[in-house]
Amino acid sequence: MWQASVLTIFPEMFPGPLGASLAGKALAAGLWRLEAIDVRAHATDKHRTVDDTPAGGGPGMVMKPDVLARALDAVVGADDKRPLLLMSPRGVPLTQRRIEALTRAAGVVIVCGRFEGVDQRVIAARALEEVSIGDYVLSGGEIAALVLIDACVRLLPGVMGAEASGEEESFESGLLEYPHYTRPLDFEGFLIPEVLRSGHHRRIAEWRRAESERITRERRPDLLKGRIANGE
Ligand code: SAH
Repeated sequence: MWQASVLTIFPEMFPGPLGASLAGKALAAGLWRLEAIDVRAHATDKHRTVDDTPAGGGPGMVMKPDVLARALDAVVGADDKRPLLLMSPRGVPLTQRRIEALTRAAGVVIVCGRFEGVDQRVIAARALEEVSIGDYVLSGGEIAALVLIDACVRLLPGVMGAEASGEEESFESGLLEYPHYTRPLDFEGFLIPEVLRSGHHRRIAEWRRAESERITRERRPDLLKGRIANGE
């Protein structure tokens, strides 16, 4: 079963929002597993210290490599094939493609940074793969881990009600999604586009495709360039 193991100094943040809605129901139903490991429990001194001042000076604190390594070694067994991720603004930006690949793995092991970050030597020694959720700085890796896990869990078999609804979404085809409409027909004088009321499936599919392309061109021309580069 797909299992997320999260190493954090705030285990109480989990499952948090992942305990609600579809992800929460799937968690309760045993369709996936989540464990939050308290990094502090792997500290050895009486103050349970997990951080120390940066070598070379400067502001803030750095997470100690020895404590993190002990926590990781307690979680990751010899036959554990799951990718070891470190949430980090310096990491490779997360994409839907990467999420899909992670759902095909046995799960993920995620280290959540705090303070100024993590001692470089534990990143190297345990070959942690740095993953970013975007070009902004959070106060810790926990919310980034929740984002990653949520994006994975909704793709696991049986989690989403309508199986098909995962397939036409933004990024699945390298495009952003077309606009949605539902009743009422007339909302403040604006009608649902005629084509969507036509019942003509081919025209509807063509309209949606054209809208996807238009919106992608306007908002995210970088995605179209990526498709051309991939020969799509
Ligand atoms: N000093 C660091 C920022 C530390 S923020 C720098 O300038 O790069 C503290 C922690 O929050 C990080 O260790 C990381 O685990 C997490 N974090 C912050 N922003 C993130 C992002 N965009 N994506 C993933 N994790 C992030």
